[in-house]
Amino acid sequence: MKKDVQPATWVAHAGGCMDQSSGGVVPAIQPATTFARDEGYAPLNPDNIYQRPHSENVRQVEAVIKELEGAADTLVFPSGMAAIAAAFRWLPAGARAVVQQGIYWGTTKWIQEFCARRGIDLIQIDASDNYVLAEACTSGADLVFVETPSNPWLKVVDIQHAAKVTHAAGGILIVDGTAATPVLSRPLSLGADIVMHSATKALNGHSDVLGGVLSCRAETEIWEAIRTDRADAGAVMGTFEAWLLLRGMRTLALRVERMSANAQTLAENLVDHPGVEAVLYPGLETDPGHALAKTQMAGGFGGLMSVLVKGDKERALEVAGRLKLFLRATSLGGVESLVEHRYSIESHTGLPQNLLRLSVGIEDVDDLIEDFSKALGQ
Ligand code: PLP
Repeated sequence: MKKDVQPATWVAHAGGCMDQSSGGVVPAIQPATTFARDEGYAPLNPDNIYQRPHSENVRQVEAVIKELEGAADTLVFPSGMAAIAAAFRWLPAGARAVVQQGIYWGTTKWIQEFCARRGIDLIQIDASDNYVLAEACTSGADLVFVETPSNPWLKVVDIQHAAKVTHAAGGILIVDGTAATPVLSRPLSLGADIVMHSATKALNGHSDVLGGVLSCRAETEIWEAIRTDRADAGAVMGTFEAWLLLRGMRTLALRVERMSANAQTLAENLVDHPGVEAVLYPGLETDPGHALAKTQMAGGFGGLMSVLVKGDKERALEVAGRLKLFLRATSLGGVESLVEHRYSIESHTGLPQNLLRLSVGIEDVDDLIEDFSKALGQ
């Protein structure tokens, strides 16, 4: 398939993946863990020796994501956290990492423990403040990690600025773009060295596959180390998950368009609601990240938002408990809307007790608005 088509066309056709042997319009699943050789000991297919480094289904999904990101190469992993761990593990003892604070708590926890174990100097700052990030990089940085928009604060990081100060410090910039998806934002084109996604979220979109992905702007020595480590240490995605992810991604552009439109309408509806203290969503013109988000996100602002209800923890839990359509569950990016009281999960990170994190799905937005209004009791 020609690669110069629009993203929606590219994903709908899964980059032209078909099953050549049967003519099937979807690729086959090849579950073999090992591949045969001929009498002269040559592999029957030189691309395939053993599944850990060689899976046709993994290669297919990687090829589709690579084009979406405008990347030099893409690697998928068995979870978002496995991808993040792979992006950090090349750092030697004594290195310096600058990491955004107030991002997905699981990421922060793993990075803090890893850096302490390995003797890596870890600086955690508000990377949405250009000055603070630049200051943190003045003493050098081997790796800068940001998440934009961030989960659950929805802060927006200036990727171009982050790339400039990271490169001046001699390091590489890694952007977790999970909430934006490659449909709305392409961090590599803004200077990031590696973009990461939890494919568990909107990339797959159906809450039934765990996966992660890294894509690079150039195939550097660091990238080569990440690729080798994946093959040797074995953090690989299974063939069935890769096949499912490719299938889920066929509707990626459609889903992201709908969930962004729904989130925008819901945010605009809730922001003036008497039962709501604040809505954190970069699509709102009043949001501090709006102007920047408009320059680095095209076609919407994603399905992730946080709502601070008026009242305390009990009131937030009461509202969550009264929702009928928003399922009370963690995660984001699925076709079904979810609500989470994050304080119940990470009470020690300073999150407001009245914060409800929403993942807005693809339902009819009128139903979502009615559900939330009824839960707020007004
Ligand atoms: N990055 C972000 C922004 C996330 O929200 C998550 C999970 O919630 C992850 C990374 C980790 O991904 P996974 O759960 O697939 O390991």
